[in-house]
Amino acid sequence: MTLALGMPTVRGAAPSTEGRPEHVGLVDRFGRVARDLRVSITEKCSLRCTYCMPEEGLPAIPREDLLTAAEIARLVGIGARDLGIREVRFTGGEPLTRGDLIDIVRLSAAAAPGVPLAMTTNGIGLDARAAALRDAGLSRINVSLDTIDREHFARLTRRDRLPRVLAGLAAAASAGLGPIKVNAVLMRETLADAPDLLAFALDHGLHLRFIEQMPLDADAAWRRDHMVPAAELLSVLAGRFALTPVGRADDPSSPAEEWQVEDGPATVGIIASVTRSFCAACDRTRITAEGTVRSCLFGDDETDLRGLLRGGASDRDIADRWRAAMWNKQSGHGIDAAGFAPPARSMGAIGG
Ligand code: SF4
Repeated sequence: MTLALGMPTVRGAAPSTEGRPEHVGLVDRFGRVARDLRVSITEKCSLRCTYCMPEEGLPAIPREDLLTAAEIARLVGIGARDLGIREVRFTGGEPLTRGDLIDIVRLSAAAAPGVPLAMTTNGIGLDARAAALRDAGLSRINVSLDTIDREHFARLTRRDRLPRVLAGLAAAASAGLGPIKVNAVLMRETLADAPDLLAFALDHGLHLRFIEQMPLDADAAWRRDHMVPAAELLSVLAGRFALTPVGRADDPSSPAEEWQVEDGPATVGIIASVTRSFCAACDRTRITAEGTVRSCLFGDDETDLRGLLRGGASDRDIADRWRAAMWNKQSGHGIDAAGFAPPARSMGAIGG
């Protein structure tokens, strides 16, 4: 059975597993094993970044279609216990827009003891909830911040809310949610701000990573010849800082390549998602806010788990369908392939 959501193709039945070895984990046809789970919990956001959301926001997901806190925690538990998941990250949209976020974290921590729980956030509202999130079991946080120029921030995000992001960053540090990573999408409009952003990160003990923009914007305005490649960023940063390449320093499976800044120990990371794709080593699996498995950011073929969750299925049945979904993961984003078409869902509807 196939359910039409008006966007991706959503399978209500398990995809074929022909040729799949007896592997307990989330292996795919290319031999990759997914251990990093991204769970999108909402499509709502308090910003409207031009590379992500349309100005009017994404169409609202009916409340009854969103996974509940208990359903999310059950999937996190199945992932950790039965499928080899080693890290869970909550994304959106903006996770802080969800009123039951603390419950989601608390129940997930109980369902997957010992598995680090992280969150990617724009930081707005974090000042009020950072300590409660830590107490609920959140271990790490990534804050999205592309510039510390207030006017440029307001133009890029279509909201004048930089002070609220900075308040969120400060609260996360005070709550002990460090080391905090800051993710900055490389945009031509803010490229000249990159050295100031790096200086800010160094001053505040934040680990900054720049990310090449991918064609996941809701407005479909991305152009290969307009995007900022990692090499161009490096030449801009090199105008102010001495940078020494140190490879993938902290985690071999991390997509970020690191550069030591001045004499260290601080580093800056660059995630060259487009010009130096890391798809061949991808270890990610995604659950959307409506409870579908999305095996790849760019794969519009999704597999429904919500129907199983609400239909009385066993954990084993759910794990089997999740494995089948991942077995069919595509080889990579294919941005440079002839005939490439961006996915139906934008970044805000998938989770980063
Ligand atoms: S594009 Fe797909 S395969 Fe490549 S890193 Fe992203 S999720 Fe993994």
